[in-house]
Amino acid sequence: MTAYPADKAKHARELAAAFNVVFVEMNIVPENASAKVGDIGGYVGAVKCGKIVDDTTYAVALHEIGHCVAACGGLPVERRDASSESATLRVKLIEERAAWEWAEYYACDWTPAMEQVKQWALSTYETGYAQTLQHDANRVAAEKRTQMKVNMDTASFAKRMGEGE
Ligand SMILES: [Zn+2]
Repeated sequence: MTAYPADKAKHARELAAAFNVVFVEMNIVPENASAKVGDIGGYVGAVKCGKIVDDTTYAVALHEIGHCVAACGGLPVERRDASSESATLRVKLIEERAAWEWAEYYACDWTPAMEQVKQWALSTYETGYAQTLQHDANRVAAEKRTQMKVNMDTASFAKRMGEGE
């Protein structure tokens, strides 16, 4: 039996080399793969990923390379310095989508298993983003209620002062 991943693992390593990304395969689960984006000793970034043994690990490896080299895969730090949690997550979601688009574009094929890992990974960020949007909306609503209460108190105070004259 031909080792399924041999050519794909080679392809991932070649892509990393072609795009000037440090590429380190380790004994880690796909969830713990990571990318360090930005100049590292002349490289544009560094990827740590699990050993490429199937479509999932191949897709994740390409996704991490995508973080290093896709146009919006790793946005500048100042873009993250957002005023709200949802704004920060929105930037993160842009990076995630960009890195997955890059992976899909450069992969030698895109199988249902690879699409599944992409959808799963994106859904974790999308769910987090939706929850944070709701959280931010609740906070703004609570602040408005507090503001209204203060305004009303001020109005009644002014009225009392007026009556006292
Ligand atoms: Zn990612």
